[in-house]
Amino acid sequence: MRKAIFLSLIAIFVSLNIFAQTPQELADAWDATHITDKEPSDVRHADLKVYIEKLREQGVKVGEVGRSNAGREIYQMEFGSGPTKVFLWSQMHGDEPTATSALVDIFSYLATHKDVPWVKEFAAKLTIRAVPMLNPDGAELYQRRNLQGIDINRDALNLATPEARLLKWLQNSWQPDIGFNLHNQQELTAVDHTGKQASISFLVVYGDPAKTETAGMLRNKRIVSAMTKAIETFIPGHIARYGDDWTPTAFGDNFSAWGTPVILIETGALVGQKELYLAKINFIAIMTAFSSLATGSEATGSTLTYDTLPRNASGTLVNFIFRNVEAAPKGNKPVVAVDIAAVAARRRASFTTSIRISRVGNVGGLTGLEEFDAAGFYVVQRFGSLAPGKLAELFFYKKDRVVDWKAQDIIEKFEPDAIFSAGSWTKGEGVVPKIQR
Ligand SMILES: [Zn+2]
Repeated sequence: MRKAIFLSLIAIFVSLNIFAQTPQELADAWDATHITDKEPSDVRHADLKVYIEKLREQGVKVGEVGRSNAGREIYQMEFGSGPTKVFLWSQMHGDEPTATSALVDIFSYLATHKDVPWVKEFAAKLTIRAVPMLNPDGAELYQRRNLQGIDINRDALNLATPEARLLKWLQNSWQPDIGFNLHNQQELTAVDHTGKQASISFLVVYGDPAKTETAGMLRNKRIVSAMTKAIETFIPGHIARYGDDWTPTAFGDNFSAWGTPVILIETGALVGQKELYLAKINFIAIMTAFSSLATGSEATGSTLTYDTLPRNASGTLVNFIFRNVEAAPKGNKPVVAVDIAAVAARRRASFTTSIRISRVGNVGGLTGLEEFDAAGFYVVQRFGSLAPGKLAELFFYKKDRVVDWKAQDIIEKFEPDAIFSAGSWTKGEGVVPKIQR
């Protein structure tokens, strides 16, 4: 009897161990195996093709399922042969790339770990299909819309773009049980009023304007709860819930209406972390979703974590705030110390960006992802104007320096103590003290 109890305990222990991957184990798995090596925003279609070739070598089932407006190949990857049909697509907006890299790494991992018990369980219970980079022409131009200038995610009913027709056909001809719509949101999206970036935002997408709560939607809320718990130790306080306005022409809403309840994942940014870090967080979250579907653990989960997620907020974050800025004595304005807020445009990781002054004076209510205290310095803007709309190209002089402020070409004649240019300190980093938040 005692032996029987012992053996059943062993069995429970083993089954838990086999099928319940901890988030840390998934993170370690990504660290050890990811084949993506570029920052996701630098991945163009030609780079995706390199990844796809590598996946083929690893035994991933992957093929061309369509072409973009410009004739670029659109691929679909597949894993498993189980009864539950899972469909994912990424980068229907060309400048929203993070999940494309995550999908590549997920399929690479699954194909190269087929004999691991929990991966076997995925293969037995799920059939997973994923389209990475649905909008390769937009990705090439690093723009939201496709080559026709149409937002594919507003083309679910018109079907004026080849990409939208393909996506609709992939849903219609296969009728997946669940869909994952993978996007990026602005890096300045915040978690409610916390002053923290929303690095990952989730939404269980309703299938009608009345927001009818179906069984599939409740299942998806339990799955998002599991995903949130899996990633919150990695990005604590940086997870939010996306707005749930019904958009009649969007794909997520229509997939849900067409019988494939959708989970939307919007990846934001995390200051000080590379984009690939958030690809890894996507990897952990999506593998956790597969796990909860494959093991059925979602059925006994709770929707509470999803229901209580703080909401996305906008308009409260800026990239930089320089506090107590005083213009050099020669400058016309500002004459009293002010705070200056500056924001960056969305760009590829390898591109330098222009940072523009967004507000001068009262920056109350705003939080800078990075803030500096310029109280001990006079500040000169490269082109002479510290005003909203101007570039945040800033030269800092210690106030006790002897500088002839009436001189022409001050910047050439008097070497600044610190230079802030294109979003970073190109001279004297640390001289203007950073404000610890
Ligand atoms: Zn998007």
